[in-house]
Amino acid sequence: MTNLPPETGTNRPLIDQLLQGGNLAFRENEFKRNPERYRELAVAQSPGVLWIGCSDSRAAPERITNAPPGELFVTRNVGNIVPAHDWSLSAVVEYSITHLKIKEILVVGHSDCGAVKALDKDLQDPYIALWLNDAREAKTRVDARIPKPETPEEHKERSHQIELENIRLQIEHLMTYPPFVRQAVDEKRIEVHGLYYDLETGGLSQVV
Ligand SMILES: [Zn+2]
Repeated sequence: MTNLPPETGTNRPLIDQLLQGGNLAFRENEFKRNPERYRELAVAQSPGVLWIGCSDSRAAPERITNAPPGELFVTRNVGNIVPAHDWSLSAVVEYSITHLKIKEILVVGHSDCGAVKALDKDLQDPYIALWLNDAREAKTRVDARIPKPETPEEHKERSHQIELENIRLQIEHLMTYPPFVRQAVDEKRIEVHGLYYDLETGGLSQVV
């Protein structure tokens, strides 16, 4: 946060922090130190990965992978869900495979996921409840295969298992996107994997 005079009638400390603090630091350090790379990126992109992750502020893709600029084509939503009928995600997947020619699609879940926790709640939020319908099967599968949790450790382990199962479930959904995902995988033009980010250790590991 810099000591800028407040604009008349407004108080925007967070946006000032992002613009005058964060962006300025980015331009002075990262941007100016890699002029050729950013000149290339100003006119074209060629990312290798489509990252389908959770919107959670703690699981920022470029930050947790230290990915170079222009490497990740990113879409994030509540719970890293791949719904069967979502035009936004469909367009992202189609564009990334057909036009960007990405090499890998990664579905990335994480620990302490609010979307997974919400699966156990009687939600009064209509949009969130609707959205989570495409993740409920993950909870059903885990509850069918493990004993009912009783201790705090068992509850934590159950959530962990649902977070992992949700990654596998969303990859299953992804593979039903006709016809370009399955076809691209069969023709070995892309690979599809699942990753899990552990907020407690900072570790990112492969699930699928
Ligand atoms: Zn989440």
